[in-house]
Amino acid sequence: MQAMVVQPGRQGSATLAEFDQPVGTGDVLVEGLLVGICGTDTEIANGEYGTAPPGETHLVLGHESLGRVTGAPDHSGLVAGDLVVGIVRRPDPVPCRPCSLDAWDMCRNGRYTERGIKELHGFGAQQWRIEPEFAVRVDTALGDAAVLLEPTSVVAKAWDHINTITARTPVAPQRVLVTGAGPIGLLAALLGVQRGLEVHVLDRHLEGPKPDLVSDLGAHYHASTVDAVPEPDVILECTGAPALLLDVLTHNRPAAVVCLTGVSTGGSTFAVDLGALNRRIVLENDVVFGSVNANRTHYELAAEALAGADTEWLARLITRRVPLHSWTESLDPRSDDVKVVVDLTAESTSPATVVES
Ligand code: BGC
Repeated sequence: MQAMVVQPGRQGSATLAEFDQPVGTGDVLVEGLLVGICGTDTEIANGEYGTAPPGETHLVLGHESLGRVTGAPDHSGLVAGDLVVGIVRRPDPVPCRPCSLDAWDMCRNGRYTERGIKELHGFGAQQWRIEPEFAVRVDTALGDAAVLLEPTSVVAKAWDHINTITARTPVAPQRVLVTGAGPIGLLAALLGVQRGLEVHVLDRHLEGPKPDLVSDLGAHYHASTVDAVPEPDVILECTGAPALLLDVLTHNRPAAVVCLTGVSTGGSTFAVDLGALNRRIVLENDVVFGSVNANRTHYELAAEALAGADTEWLARLITRRVPLHSWTESLDPRSDDVKVVVDLTAESTSPATVVES
């Protein structure tokens, strides 16, 4: 059984490894089909982030999953043949109050674990195990696009919190700006369109699939600057690019909600007039908040959103498939990439490193 592994903290350690057992714990046995790759995986492979399970040197990568159940106990509600996606985060062991209420996405002590990221093996394996309560069944009609459930859960949470915040005034938002037309930005735009909002998406690319993906949603694509877009009521910042942050904080309508979803790398310094920024935020009743991860409710909201989307449009988000034996190529971005996936079912021709499991 082969899996995609890295040694956390060691750049260039990404490789294919042989395991003698399915990875992970739980009564449900799953054949891995696809794993989506995102910026978090690249950062882990670059040695910037990520933690192996206690006592182990390697971490199986992959937190955007899609697999087929091959064995499940009766009480699980799952049967062989079901397509499932694994929930990424597990509550902390204390647990803190939110984790005790299954709101592990809001963990307060930071001791949560995450499959493929923090102390738990991920789903980038030909066979993995999962506890039934952390497996989400997905509609087979979605096909490969079901691998988009995890990133969709992240934006479903962001929208859920935006709804809570915008409910503070009697005037509903009308116009949304999404910065970044990567998978998170495009899925955030999809959920905005599904809410009947006027959606604008800002990115740098004039070429490639992004402009058409946005216009085929019925949204407006801009390869310009933030101030060239009509002032929005809601901004979903999906790049984490430091240069954009000040723009989104200052270019919005009064009572705006700015949701930050991009995890920036530190090290950029900008001169900011914090007093002027604070004055603007206060005098306009703006809200700026961060959003990460998702709990089970958000996965269910995400499944509804994907079920209501055009399956062909969703399938177009998957722009590159890499077979498991050469999976490390998925970590090298190409300019036309939207979502790159690793095909875990592709026959392997390469010898793999043996890792003690
Ligand atoms: C994942 C989240 C996770 C976050 C931080 C993201 O890429 O989608 O589930 O919480 O990384 O580790």
